[in-house]
Amino acid sequence: MPDQIRPDKHYNNIKRVMEKHVKRWGPMLGLDKWTIHVNWNWSNKKDIGSGHIVGGETYTSWPYLHAHLDFYLPDLAAYDTMDLEEIVVHELVHVITAEGFQNDGACTPNQERVVTELARSFLRVDRSK
Ligand SMILES: [Zn+2]
Repeated sequence: MPDQIRPDKHYNNIKRVMEKHVKRWGPMLGLDKWTIHVNWNWSNKKDIGSGHIVGGETYTSWPYLHAHLDFYLPDLAAYDTMDLEEIVVHELVHVITAEGFQNDGACTPNQERVVTELARSFLRVDRSK
């Protein structure tokens, strides 16, 4: 089937788009002094607690300005290009808000909501230029 997109090729395209967004949005959000490691997973991850599809996860060690982003390519394949940018900005907003939230485990629903709204606000401002 020559017209069928092989998943590995599709995932590589998603990875390239996401890398571009991380490279652009990191400095825009003031994270240029941070060490941000991005890990690309070629398999899904289900959030056991909520049953939601997890496109990305962020772990932050804010006293040391270190962040680790995990992205799950099969889950990201379900989103369109615009949403991929929102996912990147969302995960980076987790990094800039980590110090204020000071939680050791998963974010509370309130924190998740704040992160989502901040990410969407940044995107609205950027897209209105
Ligand atoms: Zn989140």
